[in-house]
Amino acid sequence: MKLNIKNTLIENLPADDNLENSRRQVTEAVFSYVNPKKTKAPKVIHTSHEMADLLGISEKETQSTLFKNVFTGNKIYPNTKPYAMCYGGHQFGNWAGQLGDGRAINLFEIDHQNKNWKVQLKGAGETPYSRTADGLAVLRSSIREYLCAEAMFHLRVPTTRSLSLSLTGDEVLRDVLYDGNPAYEKGAIVSRVSPSFLRFGNFEIFAARNDKKNLKILTDYTIKHHFPQLGEPSKETYIQFFKEVTKRTLKMIIHWQRVGFVHGVMNTDNMSILGLTIDYGPYGWLEGFDFGWTPNTTDVQNKRYRYGNQPNIGLWNLYKLANALYPIIEEAEPLENILNQYKVNFEKKSFKMMKSKLGLFSEEDNDLDFVQNLEDCLQLAETDMTIFFRLLSNFTDEKSGLEIIKKAIYNFEDVSDEVIDKWDFWFLHYKTRLQFEFTTDSKRKKKMNKVNPKYVLRNYMAQLAIDAADKGDFTLIDELYKLLKKPYKEQPKHEKWFAKRPEWARHKVGCSMLSCSS
Ligand code: AMP
Ligand code: MG
Repeated sequence: MKLNIKNTLIENLPADDNLENSRRQVTEAVFSYVNPKKTKAPKVIHTSHEMADLLGISEKETQSTLFKNVFTGNKIYPNTKPYAMCYGGHQFGNWAGQLGDGRAINLFEIDHQNKNWKVQLKGAGETPYSRTADGLAVLRSSIREYLCAEAMFHLRVPTTRSLSLSLTGDEVLRDVLYDGNPAYEKGAIVSRVSPSFLRFGNFEIFAARNDKKNLKILTDYTIKHHFPQLGEPSKETYIQFFKEVTKRTLKMIIHWQRVGFVHGVMNTDNMSILGLTIDYGPYGWLEGFDFGWTPNTTDVQNKRYRYGNQPNIGLWNLYKLANALYPIIEEAEPLENILNQYKVNFEKKSFKMMKSKLGLFSEEDNDLDFVQNLEDCLQLAETDMTIFFRLLSNFTDEKSGLEIIKKAIYNFEDVSDEVIDKWDFWFLHYKTRLQFEFTTDSKRKKKMNKVNPKYVLRNYMAQLAIDAADKGDFTLIDELYKLLKKPYKEQPKHEKWFAKRPEWARHKVGCSMLSCSS
């Protein structure tokens, strides 16, 4: 396995000169050198060959002992120096001070096919940023991150990627429900890949410490390596950089809304500067369409990170980034204009996205009301978002009513006549509205099926894979991985995954309720 190693980040950004792996406040540095922990009995249980290929690693090489040892942190690849990054963040609305890579260790950068990738291990042991925790990760959360990142990529949602999923052979103590019942679980490591793992929090930490010098160094590096089209650093470039981050963040969130993904912990330390979905923790997928839903039990009181609030939180987080960049821009107005534009763009793009899910591409006067009426209908009786939109593409003049989407409604027998009337009314309107599209049913269906996935990683599906893996059976991980590579395609032999959440999963821990414990 010969990797084309590059080290742009550690060679160009300030390192912490303390080489001890002790927990501490790290100032005037973007990262600290730290080595992963050796594990007892490493075992790779799944590899994304597609991602490996993008790094120049062949299928055969992924089966080697070297691959296993490098991607579980048991061997340092020649000429590389692993490191953990320093960042801060606003958690649940409050400034939390220094956080940092508490259990992520960056191994190296690989240049392949004119692309630069950062490779990182999650769960490979403590770092100077581990605070009170152990730097480790358990199997369940690792399976969830591993599968979901790849699934999101194939859904065309901007995201970090997964390379491999491994067991460490070590045991990790976790109190899943935070109720004083800790238990040992299997330790695991995900190796994940991204052009950059920089977060809003990397910029915020320097601003919070009045370290303008390093804030500028980091921003200049980010522009040079990730936004080179913006040109030489200057105040104007910094403004354009912020504008670009704003655009990408909004784009990512619109995609989340389109596929019904709820991140669950949109703290500013979990916001990628490249607008990629990062840090898959207590995320979840909408089953019943519900703007108020959050999978994160740590957030049930305020539901700050609920589905319908994600666009607003994106904006809130961008305000924090704007504040962090202010010291090197020293002008508030251009930043405010960009933030105001986010609101306008959000309304426009979200409306357009919802219309595309309905197969509506032309503009008609009452479209806004029409889409809002649908959102209301979807919340009258529990209606599965994924199934609803997928089945809706079967609409024709002959098959034109509630009947075609019946399968999407949970407990259809209990739905009241009043609700059925409302749906009938909406469908009547839909029929008339479609006449203004001037296209054929089959063409519309094709277009709709490109924005409405048939298969997503439903919370219970991930849980089934976890339960099996816990008993040593990894076949379901592979089945779901393969299924989710083609989320928009009909896959008749996988039809069983095109189904509503089973009742047993409604209130089950890991399915509808997830904590930050991972
Ligand atoms: P999260 O909410 O998972 O994004 O994590 C917030 C912060 O806690 C980050 O700085 C993480 O690195 C850190 N963290 C989470 N879990 C652990 C752990 N098991 N050990 C060390 N640090 C952790
Ligand atoms: Mg995080």
